[in-house]
Amino acid sequence: MIKQLVPSDVCLKCQGCCRFKDADSVWSPCLLDEEILDLIDKEGIPAAALSINRRLQLVPNSKGEDFLCPFLNIEENKCKIYSTRPLECQLYPFLITLRDKKVLLTVDLNCPYVKEKLNTPEFKAYLGYLTDYFNSPTQLELLKDNPQIIQAYDDVLDVVELQSPDAPK
Ligand code: SF4
Repeated sequence: MIKQLVPSDVCLKCQGCCRFKDADSVWSPCLLDEEILDLIDKEGIPAAALSINRRLQLVPNSKGEDFLCPFLNIEENKCKIYSTRPLECQLYPFLITLRDKKVLLTVDLNCPYVKEKLNTPEFKAYLGYLTDYFNSPTQLELLKDNPQIIQAYDDVLDVVELQSPDAPK
């Protein structure tokens, strides 16, 4: 599990995450291969609930015009699989982004907490933690095996260049 920057009490009061404008939103969680197998085996998710591009298949929000992650308990604003949620969910509001053939750690400033903390010592320390985490041999191997989660996100702030999983060791 990735350590969190945003305290859980702040997250629980915000209704920004886990909701998406479009059914096939690029922001919906993209899954590692092992996460797909776990969701099918341990959570009993039918394979049809995962889109062919290895994303959670979003569901229409009956109370709005947006789309929801199928694991969001909207009444309590909680993730039903929080302790085993996908890596992309653990990482958010940070994202791994491919730009100009570089693998970057980026951040989504739509998260109000991170926007407020930008450039603070707390933010910088957390960046150091994430950089070390993703540059570790284990995580580089994981990214190499799961290139689907390195995506070309727009409208995010580039913060650190990571090692490329394809770079020679
Ligand atoms: S798996 Fe959980 S944390 Fe991830 S988008 Fe769905 S509800 Fe949110």
